[in-house]
Amino acid sequence: MNPQTHTLSDEFVLPTNKGVHATRQLDQAADDPCIYLVGNSLGALSKRSETLVKEELGVWASTGVEGHFAHPLGREWTTIQDQCTPILAKIVGAKEPEVACMGTLTTNLHLMMTTFYKPTSERFKILCEAKAFPSDQYVFASHSNLHGRDPAEAVIELSPRAGEYFLRSEDILAVIAEQGPSIALVILSGVQYYTGQWFPMQAITRATKAAGAICGWDLAHAVGNVPLSLHDWDVDFAVWCTYKYLNSGPGGIAGLYIHEKWDAQQTPNAGWWGQEVGKRFEMGPTFRPIKGAQGYQQSNPCILAIAALLGSLQIFEKAGLMPAVRARSLELTGYLEGLLIKLPLFVPLAEANARTTPGFTIITGSDPEARGAQLSMLFLPIGSEMMRQVSKGLTSFGVIADTREPDVIRFAPTPMYNSLRDCERAVGYLDEVLRSIKL
Ligand SMILES: *Cc1c(COP(=O)(O)O)cnc(C)c1O
Repeated sequence: MNPQTHTLSDEFVLPTNKGVHATRQLDQAADDPCIYLVGNSLGALSKRSETLVKEELGVWASTGVEGHFAHPLGREWTTIQDQCTPILAKIVGAKEPEVACMGTLTTNLHLMMTTFYKPTSERFKILCEAKAFPSDQYVFASHSNLHGRDPAEAVIELSPRAGEYFLRSEDILAVIAEQGPSIALVILSGVQYYTGQWFPMQAITRATKAAGAICGWDLAHAVGNVPLSLHDWDVDFAVWCTYKYLNSGPGGIAGLYIHEKWDAQQTPNAGWWGQEVGKRFEMGPTFRPIKGAQGYQQSNPCILAIAALLGSLQIFEKAGLMPAVRARSLELTGYLEGLLIKLPLFVPLAEANARTTPGFTIITGSDPEARGAQLSMLFLPIGSEMMRQVSKGLTSFGVIADTREPDVIRFAPTPMYNSLRDCERAVGYLDEVLRSIKL
């Protein structure tokens, strides 16, 4: 047990059984916290975030526009994001000027595609994983269309081998080696949202660079979940949202990383917030961007969103940042896996396809180096009503997990606020629900 992060649930306000409409609480009161295993989807509210947002509302009420330059709490709105970037830089393994706190994930991905996707007649392919998050697929298709290319030709998707769910590293690297000269851009998710696979980011980045292509990462499910060293790995760019493991709240402000070697490059999508800080309010006609990722900022950011993010980032710092968070995560996820595979209805992955009676398997691999906090369970028989019934049953017990049609439920024991006890109770209820289902 890691004492540094063990007590952090006190720093969060977790949804209650009543709040999530748990109807069958056996050993807990309606106002007790539910078993919240969806930090991979929407992280919980930290008390610090709540305080900071309330303070910013207060400053808005009391000082109005003056808060931009003279803020009673020393968080001038023109520079408040500078309090987030040093912590974010540590979390993603980057230098501070390589990181910007801005925009939303999909918008930032569009910005990066506009900047880095420069197809030529020989080198025009975008390599991504099959079944990437839909928004990412739309972005890749948009940019192939923008360059007059049929996405069916320009976007190549990596699929697992028949009957498998995880992509094998050797298969990914083989495609990069074989198709290298025609690949303009390799962009995968750091941790895959559906399977929970943490890709071998360093090896893929290295192979991509060796093939002469640009390497970008979508870190939506990786940031705040697994340790990252974007700068040292020589990653060109990365984007992420912050409302998942970073707990910034629904629709929170997103993030962007660009390697410092691209410093001299200017954004093709200039906005006034990318302008040199001292020059922004001169309102001059010429755009002289801040060096590094922050030159890509476009608009003045939502202060309430930044305050919410900052609160959670301060808790990450208090926890000892990624080394401590990851240690706790390894412990929790390993413990959860150990409990799940002992359930009578657990079926090894190799036997899942043939299963005709109720059961479940885990499609997330068992190697801790190839996963973060999430375990994706596939309910069997495939294509039956199982998953929906299990999901309903879990909710009735106050176990909140994320479902993916048709057959998957994901449990994410989040290191910041979930406990070993949460894992035990969730698995106990899952067992009870599974036993009660008659297909
Ligand atoms: C969560 C997630 C998104 C969400 O995009 P927004 O622009 O934040 O709405 C996009 N891509 C991936 C891979 C995600 O996991």
